[in-house]
Parts: sequence; structure tokens; C-alpha cells
Amino acid sequence: MKKTTGMNRAVTQKWRPATQAVRGGTWRSEHGETSEAMFLTSGYTYDDAQTVADRFAGEAQGMTYSRLQNPSVAMLEERIALLEGAEACRAQASGMAAMTASLLCQLSAGDHCVAARAAFGSCRWLVDQLLPRFGIETTVIDSADNAQWETAIRPNTKVFFFESPANPTLDIVDMQFVCDLARAHGITTVVDNAFASPALQRPMEFGADVVAYSATKLMDGQGRVLAGAICGSEEWVTETLMPFQRNTGPTIAAFNAWVVHKGLETLNLRAHQQSRNAVELGEHLEERIVAAGGHMRHPGLPSHRRHALAKAQMDATGPIFAFDVETRQRAFAILDALELIDISNNIGDTRSLMCHPASTTHANMGDEARAEMGVSEGLLRINVGLEDIADLRDDMDAALAAAGI
Ligand SMILES: *Cc1c(COP(=O)(O)O)cnc(C)c1O
Repeated sequence: MKKTTGMNRAVTQKWRPATQAVRGGTWRSEHGETSEAMFLTSGYTYDDAQTVADRFAGEAQGMTYSRLQNPSVAMLEERIALLEGAEACRAQASGMAAMTASLLCQLSAGDHCVAARAAFGSCRWLVDQLLPRFGIETTVIDSADNAQWETAIRPNTKVFFFESPANPTLDIVDMQFVCDLARAHGITTVVDNAFASPALQRPMEFGADVVAYSATKLMDGQGRVLAGAICGSEEWVTETLMPFQRNTGPTIAAFNAWVVHKGLETLNLRAHQQSRNAVELGEHLEERIVAAGGHMRHPGLPSHRRHALAKAQMDATGPIFAFDVETRQRAFAILDALELIDISNNIGDTRSLMCHPASTTHANMGDEARAEMGVSEGLLRINVGLEDIADLRDDMDAALAAAGI
């Protein structure tokens, strides 16, 4: 295929990830534009009636309607699939659209799902509230305890669902163990990889079947749009995901897809630099937090109970870490004293952002579930951005001092 129209997958699959992130999934129009064009169209026109009939029958390639296909969305899907090492990818309107579709497309009444208890608040809502309403049984476990995965399996267990690192407690799952166990029992593994992105961790290398994303986070990486994605085998995507997706419509807008597509060009650089900054800031703060009676939860530091596993599974440990101070009052005092770092509940952004999960991202779950998953009243979560590390240290030092730490 000519370079002016795009490269075929046989060529792009041979490239290394840094090249794929910039060049993979580029389709050029007859104008030969350098940067990908944006296709803001809901529908398509056809030269004759038979063409569209063939497309609807699945007998000819081609777009029919933007709930089903759109060139801007397809370019994003191709680029993510390349980076993930997945056969196929479908972009979604948001991370939660991706998680909902990943689970509901394959679970039916009478099935059982085992999920990690440390998870994003809305992911827990899916498991605790939504699935049971449709007769799907769920069990939540301590995902960092390998034995609990095995014990939780029932004859009707169909899906394992987890995050690693988990939001906001930074629990790490032993991916090789859990994926092997799932495979031995015919269970499908769904991994929410939002905290890592394919630049830092590719769960399919450990045997994960489905990798689902909030692309709002590191993939966009600049706090602009909501987006999501689901990666899997060609067969799973075509036969299991697509019937659900085409008829329920969690489709991403073409503009948002284009923004994330451009974000992927710098994902590798951002994810690695932000990971380095997060390790430096964590190292700087740890002694002081511990001396004040708190805990550091940072997979990139030796004090994390699965530090070695995190280092083995991930290329770098990501921009996010958390720490406890004793009370909500102290946590709020730290947030209120920040001058550079924003109080914000987003993550993956190039800006450093900090939030109090118990009153924001995890406010909707019961006190008991929150305590069980380790979201204490004094827990703070930080996304470390691309600012100069010395400025971040200064801001945190002053904020801790203002809170009497
Ligand atoms: C943010 C987040 C989500 C939800 O993504 P949205 O794009 O906000 O819908 C799901 N899982 C994890 C781990 C997240 O951090």
C-alpha cells in the first residue's frame, strides 16, 4: 500500500512500540495530509444500492454508520491494538463504558464473576450493584492474595475482573498466576489497565484475554476528553463484544478519538517521565509520612509489599501513588495548602493532581467496603505530572508543614 494512503498491518506490526505510537493506525486521504484528518460524520453515502446491501450483509468491507465504524475511531483502534499487542480493539465513549461493555457483553444470569475488592469506585458499583440486578453472582476478594482467586472459583465462574495497580490503593495483582489459573478453568480475564497504559504494562503478555481502558487517563494524558477502549482477540471482539456494542451504542465521538490518537504519540515519553517523577517524589516524602504515623503506597518503592512483582510486570511503575495521614482533617489541610499541585480527581494528566478518595472517587461505596479495601479517611492519592521535580517537592514540603507533618 502506498505511504500516502496508509500502511498495512503486516508492516506496522513489525515496528517497535515507539514507532507504532507515532505511525501506527494512520490512514491518509487523497490529500496526503501529514497529521490524521478528523472525520466528523455520522453516516456514509454509497455509489449504488448493492454496495450498501453488501456492507450490511457483512459481505463487503466499508463504513455504514458511525455507531458502528468511523475512520477517526478506526485509526485510534488500530494504534491502541498495535501498542497492546492485541488482535483487535474497539474504542468506547469513556472508561466506564468500556468496563460495562466488557462485563455485560459476556455475562448472563446464572454466571459468576470474581473481582478485586480494591478498584475504582464505579467499577465496584458494577460488581456490587449492577451485575447482581441481572442475576449475575459476584465475589470480591483481596486481589493481592493468590489463594483467594483459587478459592473463589465456582463451577459457573465465567470472568475474573481486576486492576493492577489498583485505584487508589495501588494493590498489585500477580498477573501470570491469575491469568494461568483463569485459563485452566476456562475463565475469561478482564484487566482494567488504566493506571499503567500499554506504555508501561501489557497484560496480554501474561495471558490476559481482555484489556479494558479508561483512555481519559494516560492515553489522552492532558485532561481533555473522556475515552475508553477494549482490546481482545479478533474472535472475542467480533462474536462477543460487537453484538453488544453495535446495539447498545457506547461509541466514542470522532473528535474525542482524534484527540486520544494524538495523545498516544507522546504516551511513551510522558508515562516514563511521570513514573520517574513519581518515584522521586515518593522517595522524598516517605520518611516524613512514616514518621508522622502514615503509610506510603507506591509500587515503585521497596516498601510496597509487591514492589518486586510490580517491577517485574511493569516497564515503569506509573505516575500515581497514595499515602495515609491520620485523619480526614489533616488530609484536607494538606490539599488546601497546595499552591502548585491542583486538587483534582483525574489521573494520568501531565499536571500534578491530588485528591481525597474517601470523599470523591470512592464516596459512593459504603463505609465498610471502603475500609475493607483500604481507603482510609486520611488517604490521599497523587498523580505526578511533568512539572520540575524540585517545584513538586517544594509544594509538598510546604503543604505537609502546613498540616503539621
Ligand atoms: C478513571 C478510571 C475508570 C473510569 O474511566 P472514565 O474514563 O472516567 O469513565 C475506570 N477504571 C479506573 C482504574 C480508572 O482510574
